[in-house]
Amino acid sequence: MSGVASEMRTTAGSDNAGDFDKIYNIVEIFHSVQGEGYRSGIPHVFIRFGGCNLRCEWCDTDFNTYDKMSVRAILDDVQAYPCKNIVFTGGEPMLNDLWPIAKILRQRGYHLSIESNGTVPIPEGLIDWICISPKDQMYSKVPIKQRTGDELKCVYVGQPLEMYQDLKQGFTHLFLQPCYDDQQSVEANGRSFAMTEEVVKANPDWRLSLQTHKWMGIL
Ligand code: SF4
Repeated sequence: MSGVASEMRTTAGSDNAGDFDKIYNIVEIFHSVQGEGYRSGIPHVFIRFGGCNLRCEWCDTDFNTYDKMSVRAILDDVQAYPCKNIVFTGGEPMLNDLWPIAKILRQRGYHLSIESNGTVPIPEGLIDWICISPKDQMYSKVPIKQRTGDELKCVYVGQPLEMYQDLKQGFTHLFLQPCYDDQQSVEANGRSFAMTEEVVKANPDWRLSLQTHKWMGIL
């Protein structure tokens, strides 16, 4: 075999067959528009992983109901959509070894984002866009181990912003997001919005993030 042919075969065959067989617990895969944070408005394919190491009282995700899917099956689902932006979400996606799926997707030109609670460190080079949504306003004894990233997005429930004084140094964009609970009344959610708006006005290094997908009635 010539050197060129050998090189082409190496490139074309750069997928590791074992990566395709890696199994993940997947709650759902869906195509939607990012509704919150910095990349709001950009269409993404969301891959929601099962399982979480926290139990936040406002959590609206059934992360304990999932299917076992191989990377091959996940890729088939993802490729059905005309979209090159992926979000790994959950649950807590970093409870998984994400290298196999990340490698397969990146080799196909996908941009990889993650939404994580920050309790598990994210290896360098794994993800293109890191959004950390810490829950230490609820779990003060669970340390935030991923302390750098593109976006820090905190659900605001009245906690003092001083608690983010160190953490926020590692992030490019800072967001406060009202705690929206669809079990609560319109008035209660309205009070949460108004409280967060006032805090952002008084602390302009933070921006307001709204879960616009919920207003639109989309996933
Ligand atoms: S960290 Fe996220 S997924 Fe886990 S319980 Fe809290 S809100 Fe739900």
